[in-house]
Amino acid sequence: MQSGRKLLRGSKLVVATHNPGKVVEINTLIAPYGLEAIAAGALGLPEPDETGTMFASNARIKARAAADAAGLPALADDSGLCIDSLDGAPGIFSARWGGTSKDFSAAMERVNRELELRGARLPSDRAAHFVSALCLSWPGGEDQIFEGRAFGEVVWPPRGNLGFGYDPIFVPDGYKQTFGELDAATKDRISHRARAFDKFMRACLS
Ligand code: IMP
Repeated sequence: MQSGRKLLRGSKLVVATHNPGKVVEINTLIAPYGLEAIAAGALGLPEPDETGTMFASNARIKARAAADAAGLPALADDSGLCIDSLDGAPGIFSARWGGTSKDFSAAMERVNRELELRGARLPSDRAAHFVSALCLSWPGGEDQIFEGRAFGEVVWPPRGNLGFGYDPIFVPDGYKQTFGELDAATKDRISHRARAFDKFMRACLS
């Protein structure tokens, strides 16, 4: 449900993610708005099961659980890498491809293996995009969803050690470097999360 509710300067906002890479990016994005960001981990909130079939439904599950538990507005991101020749995989399973140990070297190897199995060697066979669905949930039941995408291609081998997750194998359109090689300020300007955040900011921040 969309609403016209706004987060005022000085408001407390729970950042409902346990992913350290996302915590850093979301904190950087909200820093200029004078919000008091509280990490879900610092409140001891558990990570709910992501039982949704879409990025938006999983973002809503995480934000709603945190807002209800903390009695504060909560912002969650559900995101992932969608590869055209893999029929959109890993998609909402992007984190799960890293396994319980969250090993994204193994997840990136799996991406490359599956692309090779399909004979996807040309850049045009390696088209991909990241998706970020952000959900702001208010205690009392309102949820606002904002989605952003970043288009590009998957490369092999991985390059760069900045960012997190699949960043070392994703080259965004218009760039030669991977997200793992681009500095944080550049990624924060062009990423799927930045684009979703831009919509969130226009609708919810004053
Ligand atoms: P979630 O916490 O279930 O939304 O997991 C999303 C997963 O998608 C992360 O664990 C990463 O593997 C991947 N992912 C999402 N956003 C990014 C990004 O900006 N860079 C690299 N990988 C990302």
